[in-house]
Amino acid sequence: MTKLNVSATVSLAILFVTAGLAAGAPAPAAPEAATGYKPAPMPYPENALEPVITEKTVQFHYGKHHKGYADKLNDLVKGTPLADKKIEELITLSANQPDKVALFNNAAQVWNHDFFWASMKPGGGGTPTGKLADMIKESFGSFEEFKKQFIDTAMSQFGSGWTWLVIDGKNLKILKTGNADTPITQGLKPLICLDVWEHAYYLDYQNRRKDFATVFLDKLVNWDFAAARLAGK
Ligand code: FE
Repeated sequence: MTKLNVSATVSLAILFVTAGLAAGAPAPAAPEAATGYKPAPMPYPENALEPVITEKTVQFHYGKHHKGYADKLNDLVKGTPLADKKIEELITLSANQPDKVALFNNAAQVWNHDFFWASMKPGGGGTPTGKLADMIKESFGSFEEFKKQFIDTAMSQFGSGWTWLVIDGKNLKILKTGNADTPITQGLKPLICLDVWEHAYYLDYQNRRKDFATVFLDKLVNWDFAAARLAGK
């Protein structure tokens, strides 16, 4: 009898939830994760970078790859003193530690991806202005030369990794990192980054990484974000 009542209650609950959703009622909130590492909320809708980066790519990249790193990170730190640390601390304390490779890889990949989404905006691209434009000219000779070097660096990363524009002392520098490596472990402050893992572009550009790096600079890069970072924000 009890079993039957439970079953009936569950059936009724399903009926009400289904009816509620059909009537446009808000979906029930998802249960909170055991620990707090999550991808930063996307700064724009998942279809906002179309047609340069398709919604399908963002759904896989943000919803599966990026979230997957956060899920693995939570599994690694759950129930340990590390669970309460800031993600930058996790990256710093695990960098170059042979016994903490998985912790580093997943923490750094969460951070790198947060930074990658912030490095773009719908209708981005074009040329920077102000101090950022001046520093690019001083560091690379011209904006066109900066673009060439950034794309060449993206192309020269063998396998998975990242391309970065960073502040190095009084100059700007382009650098590449492999796999999950991130310039913050070298004390460098990134301004923008490009994900050159194949999962970032394969659905849209197949093996044409150069096309992806080019449209990133021409149509997506968020120079306002870079300028704010340069200004210390
Ligand atoms: Fe990625």
